Amino acid sequence: MTQDELADLFGFFRAECRGCDIVSRVNDLGLCEECAGKLERDLIRERDWDYTVSAYGLTDSRREELRSQVVAQYGEKLELMAQKKSADRKSKARKPNRKRSRKRR
Ligand SMILES: [Zn+2]
Repeated sequence: MTQDELADLFGFFRAECRGCDIVSRVNDLGLCEECAGKLERDLIRERDWDYTVSAYGLTDSRREELRSQVVAQYGEKLELMAQKKSADRKSKARKPNRKRSRKRR
């Protein structure tokens, strides 16, 4: 079986990925495999379990376990969702995000 046949089997088809705009095999959400993986991890980070494929059917404690694994391996920062948010926002309103470091003496 070729790669493409295998991909067809999983419902992938070629189109422009909504996440990175590269023409690739995309899934039903219009995301390439790489972006789909990113989205999956983002959903896990956000605890959006309803949309998380790999958390399906897991208990809450197992999900938390899964989440800490993802964070440990890929970090806590959102990958795909963060990119989309910043792309959607045309005007960059800078939020003052200054961490006050109080000088201790
Ligand atoms: Zn992509």
